[in-house]
Amino acid sequence: MKGKGYINKALELLYPPSLYCSCCGNLIDESRIYNLCDHCMSHIRWNADEPREIDGMYTLCCTRYGIYERTLIFALKYNRKTYIARDIAQIMADRLAVEGVRFDVIVPVPLFSGKEKRRGFNQTALIGKHLGSHIKAECLDHGLVRTADTLPMRGLSPTERELNVKGKFALNEKYSGRLKNRNILLIDDFYTTGSTAGECFRALQKAEPGNVWFLAFAAG
Ligand SMILES: [Zn+2]
Repeated sequence: MKGKGYINKALELLYPPSLYCSCCGNLIDESRIYNLCDHCMSHIRWNADEPREIDGMYTLCCTRYGIYERTLIFALKYNRKTYIARDIAQIMADRLAVEGVRFDVIVPVPLFSGKEKRRGFNQTALIGKHLGSHIKAECLDHGLVRTADTLPMRGLSPTERELNVKGKFALNEKYSGRLKNRNILLIDDFYTTGSTAGECFRALQKAEPGNVWFLAFAAG
């Protein structure tokens, strides 16, 4: 992991985050919020809907899924522009501030271990780490585990999505004590039908947590 930390540092130096828009690469100055240019700021579909309660879990999202939102996540995930995790964490922190809710622990939706090894990082855990420092909450990476690999959700029907993730998440028992009676924020980059969030919520119940909220960067 030491090596990876070094690579992430090097990437940050190669792409000074305050010079280019994280979404389109246009030159920006340091005054731009979230490292986004005016064009991208105005095209991102910001979402300020009230939290929705689904089966005992409140869900929130920052944006509606579209080209700009996908560009940001894909650049982080596949082009390894890890500094984008900081921008997304800042967006998430601001979204939470609107709701005025506080959390003790952040749990990122996990990747299957083989996939995380291949990619070298879980983008959601990177976001969680930065978000933790904004909202003063511990980010418990691997608090949940994905017990089997799953297909990408996009392109699957709602029923297929449900079956794809059913029973594929489990509580990491060694962290159970750190989750008991704590208010937990479960986070993911995307939210589609809620199958993944719902399965993670069920897996977390084993730790007897306090309130559990779910926050995604983009929903749609
Ligand atoms: Zn831009």
